[in-house]
Amino acid sequence: MASTTGEERVLLGKVLALERRLGFTDGAVLGGLERFVARHVPEAAPLVRGYARRDPAARKDAVDALERWLAGPFPPPWEVPVAGLPGVGKRRAELLAKLGIRTVEDLLTYVPRRLEDRSGLRRIRDLRDGEVALVEGVVRAKSKVKVRRGLELVKVALDDGTGFLFGIWFNQPWVWDGIAEGERYALWGKVQARFGELQIENPVWERAGANEQTGRLVPVYPATEGLSQPVLQGFIRRSLDRYRAALLDVVPEAVRERYGLLPRREALERIHAPRSEEEFELARRSLAFEELFLLQVGVLTRRRPEGGGRALKVDRGLLNRFLGRLPFELTPSQRRAMEAIERDLRSGRPMLRLLQGDVGSGKTVVAAAACVMAASAGAQGAIMAPTEILAEQHFLVLGELLEGLPIRIAHLGGGLGRRERRSLLQAIAAGEVDLVVGTHALIQDDVLFRNLALAVVDEQHRFGVVQRAILEAKGEGTNILVMSATPIPRTVVLTLYGEFSVSVLSETPRSRGRVQTVWLSASRREGVYREVGERLGRGERGYVVFPVIEGSEELDLRAATAGYEELRRRFPGVGVALLHGRMAPEEKRGAMGAFRRGEVQLLVATTVVEVGIDVPDASFLVIEHADRFGLAQLHQLRGRIGRAGQEAVCYALGDPTTDEGRARLAAFRDLGDGFKIAEADLRIRGPGDVLGTEQSGFVSRLKAADLTRDLGLLERAREEALRIVEEGVPEPLLQEAGRRFGAALALLGV
Ligand code: ADP
Ligand code: MG
Repeated sequence: MASTTGEERVLLGKVLALERRLGFTDGAVLGGLERFVARHVPEAAPLVRGYARRDPAARKDAVDALERWLAGPFPPPWEVPVAGLPGVGKRRAELLAKLGIRTVEDLLTYVPRRLEDRSGLRRIRDLRDGEVALVEGVVRAKSKVKVRRGLELVKVALDDGTGFLFGIWFNQPWVWDGIAEGERYALWGKVQARFGELQIENPVWERAGANEQTGRLVPVYPATEGLSQPVLQGFIRRSLDRYRAALLDVVPEAVRERYGLLPRREALERIHAPRSEEEFELARRSLAFEELFLLQVGVLTRRRPEGGGRALKVDRGLLNRFLGRLPFELTPSQRRAMEAIERDLRSGRPMLRLLQGDVGSGKTVVAAAACVMAASAGAQGAIMAPTEILAEQHFLVLGELLEGLPIRIAHLGGGLGRRERRSLLQAIAAGEVDLVVGTHALIQDDVLFRNLALAVVDEQHRFGVVQRAILEAKGEGTNILVMSATPIPRTVVLTLYGEFSVSVLSETPRSRGRVQTVWLSASRREGVYREVGERLGRGERGYVVFPVIEGSEELDLRAATAGYEELRRRFPGVGVALLHGRMAPEEKRGAMGAFRRGEVQLLVATTVVEVGIDVPDASFLVIEHADRFGLAQLHQLRGRIGRAGQEAVCYALGDPTTDEGRARLAAFRDLGDGFKIAEADLRIRGPGDVLGTEQSGFVSRLKAADLTRDLGLLERAREEALRIVEEGVPEPLLQEAGRRFGAALALLGV
C-alpha cells in the first residue's frame, strides 16, 4: 500500500472541514469517515476507529486529533500505533503486541537477537553434506506433492551450471506461487546429501539479486508464531524509511563523540541492516548507551530533594561504649560502612544507603551501630524484617549487643495481646522506646513515632518499595539504611539503586568457605540421610529444607510434613522439629528456641529459615527438591550453616529437567562467593527474572542494553549523567528521560 501523498493530505483536510461544518454527522463522505481514512491515509486509521458509532463529542475529538495529525509534519514515532501501518491488520497488530511492539518507536527499537551470515556464494558442485550455504541458479523444474494428509511438499530443482540442488518446502503452499520456472533464485540453508541428491529443506529463498534475505548479514529478531522474519523486517524497513526524519539525538554530541558512538538515526539504521558484526555491535552499544544515559539522568534527577533532614548529633561516647563491648573486632569494611553512616547522619541530608554483603558478612552489627548513633542523638530507630522469625531473632541479637547501654528496645511482634500492643504503641509514640524491631507490622497506620530518624530495612528484596516509603514517612527526613540479603550485581545496583550510596562488606568475619556443597540426584537420598544420621550421632545440628512455592503451598506443606514424620521415625533418639510459615507464632518460637538450645538437633523446615537465621552451631543442610529453588535462595540457605567457622556440608538433592535448572545447581555447587553467585544468576536467568515483577518493567524498557554484560557502558553512562546533572539537565533531555523511563522509575519510588 502506498503511503500518504500530499494530495491525500489536502483532500483529508477538506473532508474534515466539511465534517466539522456538518456538525459531526459522519456525512462528509460517502461510506463514512472511517472508511475514507482507512483507504487514503491508513496511518491515521486508529484515530477514527468506530467513528460511525461514536457520539458527536467523541467524533469531534477524533476530528481534532486527525487535524492535529495533519498539521504536524510527522507525529513522533512513539505516538504512532503500529496498528495503522500499511500491512498491519488487527491480527498482526495483536501478534506484534505480543512481542511488546505497539508503536512505531517500539518497532524501530526492536533489537535483533543475533545476526545470521547468509553471504558467501558457493558452487553446487563443491557443496558438502551438512554445510550451511548460499547458492544461486535457475529453477529448471518445480513439483508439488501431497505426501499424506496434512503434509504437502513443494520441490524445485536449482541449476547453477555446476550441478543441481533441490529445495524442498513443507506446508508452505505460497512457495509454489512465488517461484517461477526459468527464473534465477538464491537459496540458503543446510545442505543434505540424501537419496543421491543434494537438498536443502525449507531454505530461505528470494529472487537472485534481491539481497534482502540472502547475500548479507541478516538480522534475526525474537519472533512469535504467525509473524515471519521477512514480514517483521519489512515493517521495520518501511518504518525506518518513513520516520527517519523523526529520529532525533538525545545524547549530547560531545558525549557521543567521546565514546565514538553513532547518532540515534544511524545507530537504528545500522542495527537493522549491519554490514559487519562490528557495525552491529557498535550500533547496539550506541543505542544501549543512550538508554542507560537517559535512565541514569532519570534516576539521578529523582534523587530526593535536599533538606528535610536534620543533622543528628551522634554521641561518640555511647558509640564507643557499644563498640568496646562487642565480643569481636569489626572487619575493615564493617568499620568503613559504619563511618559512612555516621557521616550521613551528621550531614543534615537524609541518608539513603544500601548495605551490601554476602551471607554472614555481618550486616546486623553495622545496623545496630547505626541504631546506637540515632539513639545517642535522642532520636528513634526502627528495624523492619521480612518474617516474624527474623524480627524475633533481631530483637534477641540486638538485645544482647545493646545490653548495658541506655537504649530501650522493643519488639512489635505478631504475638502481642491487644493490651500489650496498645501500651507498646503508646510508648513508641511517647518516645519511651528508642528502637523498635518488627515485620511490616511496623508500617501499620496506628504505629506512630515521636521522633523516627532512622529506618533500617533488612533483606530489602522481600519488601515492596511502597512499604519502605510508608516506614520512611513515619519520620521526617528519615534516614534510610537498606540491607540486601545476598549481593546484588553491580549493574543492577547502579540502575535500581542508582540514587543510593552503597557500602559493601567485602570480607566475611569468620573463616567461611569450609562449607562443602554436594549436588546429588534424588535417587541418592538414602545415602545422604545415612550421613545425616552419623552427624546426628556425633551431636551435630542441622536443617532439612523443603520448598514451599507460591501456587502449590498446600501440596508443598504436605510434602514437608510427610518428610518431617518420616525423619522423626527414622531418627527416634534425636529431637526433630518442624517449622513452617503456617504455624502459630508461639509454635514457631518454640521450635526455633529448642533448636537454638540444642534440644532439637534436626530442624525440618520450609523456606522460612531462608534468610537471616543465625544458629552458629548448625553444620549440615539437606535441601530437598533443590531444583525448585532460585540460586540466590539456595545461597541464602547455605548461609545458615558453618557460621561458627566449623566444617559443614550442604546436600542439594534434585534432578532439574531444564538446562537452566542444571546451570543453576552447577553454579551453586561450584561458587561459594555471593557476588559471583549474583552475577551467575543474572547470566542464567536474565535481568527480568532476577529483579522480580516490581522491577521487571524497568528491564523491558531497556531494548539494547544488557544488564548481564554492559557494566562498562553503564558506568560511563552514569559518569556522563552525573556530569550533566551537575551542570543542569537541558529540558528536552529531561523530558525524554521522563518519557522513556518515568513510569518505570515511579514504580520503584525511593
Ligand atoms: P548477615 O550479613 O548475613 O546478616 P550477620 O549480621 O547475621 O550476617 O552476622 C553473621 C555472624 O557473624 C553473626 O553471628 C555475627 O555475630 C558474626 N559477626 C559479625 N561481625 C563479626 C566480626 N567482625 N567478627 C566476628 N564475628 C562477626
Ligand atoms: Mg542478616
